Amino acid sequence: MEDMFSPLIEVENLRREINRHNQLYYVQDNPEISDAQYDTLIRRLKELEEAHPELVTPDSPTQRVGAEPLKAFGIVNHPYPLLSLANAFSDTELEAWYQRVKKLLGNIPFQIDCEPKMDGLAVALTYRNGKFATGATRGDGFQGENITRNLRTIHSIPLNAEPNAPPVFEVRGEVYLSKNGFAKLNRERADKGLPLFANPRNAAAGSLRQLDPSVTAERPLDIFIYALGYSEDSLLPDSHWQILDYFSKIGFRINPLNRLVNTLEEAKEYYRQMAANRASLPYEADGVVFKVDSVSLQHRLGDVGREPRWAIAYKFPAEQVMTRLKKIGISVGRTGTLNPFAVLEPVNVGGVVVKQAALHNEDDILRKDIREGDTVIIQRAGEVIPEVVAPVLSKRNPESKPFRMEESLFNPNLNRTACPVCGGEIYRPAGEAMHYCANVSCPAQFERQLEHFVSRGAMDIRGIGESLSVILAQQGLVKNVSDLYYLTTADLLQLPRMGEKSADNIIDAIADSKTRPLDRVIFGLGVRHVGNETATLLSRHYGNIWALAKTGLGELQTIPDIGDKIASSIVAYFSEEKNVAVIRRLEEAGVRLTSDQKPVNKNMPFSGMEFVVTGKLESFSREEAQEKIRSLGGTAKDNVTKATNYLVVGADAGSKLTKARSMGVKELSEREFINMLEQS
Ligand SMILES: [Zn+2]
Repeated sequence: MEDMFSPLIEVENLRREINRHNQLYYVQDNPEISDAQYDTLIRRLKELEEAHPELVTPDSPTQRVGAEPLKAFGIVNHPYPLLSLANAFSDTELEAWYQRVKKLLGNIPFQIDCEPKMDGLAVALTYRNGKFATGATRGDGFQGENITRNLRTIHSIPLNAEPNAPPVFEVRGEVYLSKNGFAKLNRERADKGLPLFANPRNAAAGSLRQLDPSVTAERPLDIFIYALGYSEDSLLPDSHWQILDYFSKIGFRINPLNRLVNTLEEAKEYYRQMAANRASLPYEADGVVFKVDSVSLQHRLGDVGREPRWAIAYKFPAEQVMTRLKKIGISVGRTGTLNPFAVLEPVNVGGVVVKQAALHNEDDILRKDIREGDTVIIQRAGEVIPEVVAPVLSKRNPESKPFRMEESLFNPNLNRTACPVCGGEIYRPAGEAMHYCANVSCPAQFERQLEHFVSRGAMDIRGIGESLSVILAQQGLVKNVSDLYYLTTADLLQLPRMGEKSADNIIDAIADSKTRPLDRVIFGLGVRHVGNETATLLSRHYGNIWALAKTGLGELQTIPDIGDKIASSIVAYFSEEKNVAVIRRLEEAGVRLTSDQKPVNKNMPFSGMEFVVTGKLESFSREEAQEKIRSLGGTAKDNVTKATNYLVVGADAGSKLTKARSMGVKELSEREFINMLEQS
């Protein structure tokens, strides 16, 4: 009897598990398992449903394409559903697909499009009468979220189609974040103490589904168009390849690595090359998509279930391996954060030997239940630091205990928790995920801080990298960052393996860094939660370091994007006499501490005019409007003051409008503003 019931029970368990992971992946952008593990669950469910068709229900995850749209966005009905593709995981499965297509088409020859499968977020873009009208996520394939305003911030999406384009058409594409863009975004989030994104796909999805388009605009998103959804024009060619070529010619971005081939062998060769080169691609790709090129043959082949018969996604093998987690180590970051990391039995992942992996913080370790001594799954995604995905529970030592940061930081000699480097006291601010070393003179913190100060995004002092920073700090030659500017060639020559030539070069590079823009100096100081974006805001608002040093919470909080946490951190930093002394010594050494706003060109149309943009504009984002103002010689500010000449008012304008009215500032509607731009 048990055998008769077990498929039903397994199917129900699988559905519950898959639905939970769908929710985590699509709605919360916070997956717990790898894509490969997810695919395994789906495949098992499909197998069972094929063997027991009576168990298939309309709401089974195999019958759906994605997740339900978030209600916070408007809903868009897709006139033609965005189907998902069947997957192949081996040459045999690809061959089976090819033979099936061949059989269904009789003797008609067909060509195959080969395209990298971008690991991003699928979107549908509709153009009406030459204008980008609606942009939507895939959602469940039938209904998606209306994210038009967010998509407008992506520069490679044309806002207008050329005049002889079809009157109404929909193109589909994948929005993605490059590997570099992803690394930069996570660095900035780390600086601000925000949780990191797990991978570029989640970062792209999270960026695109922001309720505030100005947040999306700051993320370096890009798009490749991979298909025509539909078009009110029957004159388009019968070839997918030629259709994409047409859209490429009228300004849409098409992946230059796409190929059109004639045989299965060529298709396999394309896959092999892409799989071999995936690490060097500037973006994440998780496989190759093969499509029958002829549109009329695509129609003839049709769909099966919710998957088109004329296309298949051949996935790359996941770069995941198992190894033993020997120990959870703790390193000290530049703002005193205590960062747990996994010390691993060295293991080869996709051609790279991995000895350590990121573990983020205690909450993350407890959520994944990772313990010292566990066998764990390690994943490396592109250039990103490898991470521990999950423990293998079946291989766990029954005596193992959950990881506790406090226990791990306990120092028996001091009989309390202590910084593993300096023995300083530990604290964890309320509401934060990180523990900190409280010792302001912690040598490990200062080494990281010095590395940060000289790094490319800050003062960019070439010749002083990670290792020299550590040596300078450990030898006591540099006790705070201002000491750099008082170093002499003779000082450097005391160091091991330092030649006269390199010492001279380093002294020159240090001198050269004295003229870096103010935002880089502010960023370099390493104030907790002040990343480079915040540093830029502060530099623009205050114009020189002493104005910033004297500021109070009240004024900081009037600056958009500066929250309470950042504001109190800034005030705390400048209230330390020690920090102010460092800045004074930087100034005495000749480091520039004022911003170098470009002198205003008196002959430009907006010269001498100060604008504030408020509310939501139809035609551009706030940043785009500000950029236009600056490009015509005007000043764009975030706050209404006595100096404001014009307030550009979009929809839902709030307190700035009230303030502007009370001060008698001239208001401009979006239409009036556009007229002004056009007349300039
Ligand atoms: Zn310490």
